[in-house]
Amino acid sequence: MPGILPTQLLVIQPTPFCNLDCTYCYLPNRNNKAKMSTRTLHAIGKSVVASRHFSDNTTLVWHAGEPCVLPPEWYRGAIDTIEIAANRKITRQAIQTNATLLSDDWIAFIKDEGISLGVSLDGPEWINDARRVTRNGVGTFRQTQAGIAKLRDAEIPFHVIAVVTADALDHPVDFAQCLVATGAYSIGLNIEEIDGTNDKSSLLEGDQEKAYGKFTSRFMDTVEASPNPPKVREYERFLLALKKGGNPTRHMENSPGAIISVSRTGELTTFSPELLGTPSETYDNFVFADVHEISDVSQMFLNKSYLKALVDIHSGVTNCRKTCRYFEVCGGGSPSNKLGEKGRFDSTETAFCRLSVKATFDSFLERAGVPV
Ligand code: SF4
Repeated sequence: MPGILPTQLLVIQPTPFCNLDCTYCYLPNRNNKAKMSTRTLHAIGKSVVASRHFSDNTTLVWHAGEPCVLPPEWYRGAIDTIEIAANRKITRQAIQTNATLLSDDWIAFIKDEGISLGVSLDGPEWINDARRVTRNGVGTFRQTQAGIAKLRDAEIPFHVIAVVTADALDHPVDFAQCLVATGAYSIGLNIEEIDGTNDKSSLLEGDQEKAYGKFTSRFMDTVEASPNPPKVREYERFLLALKKGGNPTRHMENSPGAIISVSRTGELTTFSPELLGTPSETYDNFVFADVHEISDVSQMFLNKSYLKALVDIHSGVTNCRKTCRYFEVCGGGSPSNKLGEKGRFDSTETAFCRLSVKATFDSFLERAGVPV
């Protein structure tokens, strides 16, 4: 059984609310405007941030709703509360935002705190606006671009994460050019996936591997032809995995402790953050502890539902190791994705990994002149 890893990401849900209503969103309760209480922030400080699992290498990520719907003052107070309760400083923070609400106050706050920033944008306006929409169905491309312009003016570095849907497949050049033009230092491609409460994907219907492989190849050609090419996260991961020379990648989402997530009300989980909020009788809805009821986060690792999830997830990783030639660069996949598509953790291949790992890695090798 794998050992518990030091925490790399502490994902905290300040509010489940999001000002947008993207068609592929996996978050339940995104209409709920409630925010995390001071009591819960204090408990996170005492039992998670003060624990030996948290270190200066841990990044606190404000996520699982749109973080910028709350004002910077709220985060200043929240960070103070956590740090006082933990009696330590938080050295790394990150936010993934749709950038539509980036006010001057937010820009100043991001600079002051040195927050690492990711912006969500799905390529050109007509592709982005097909799915990244407001509750009235209005596209959000222009608002996001306005936020990106503020970041550029303030010289705040940021990365972009783009969800690739079926609409993008025939337009890799436009897609890449739009993302490169944002000025991001790196681009990540997320496949529209079946995950959490999202049970359908335009990209995972039918046999799209060849089309996706071609998309990534043309996408990379376009990125690399640009004057200051940003890094592309997927290719960077493959390079890193290959440099390890035979030491398989450990996938953070299937490694206990590597990611710890806390819901707005103080429910704790580990493995994929998307599991929090996924209904499950077998695993007690993936709530492995209540942050108000423990003195140290390590108590979560004694919970019965956690232990059952650990055994089943490990069994899936072992099956992947035995059967999949991509294991070295993948590490056995995302549990929430396996559960979403296959209904069980001990499964192996999913439509998601056929595209995001297998087709993408094949295109990486082909571009490097390695026969697949
Ligand atoms: S690519 Fe898919 S089948 Fe292969 S190791 Fe990853 S999750 Fe398992």
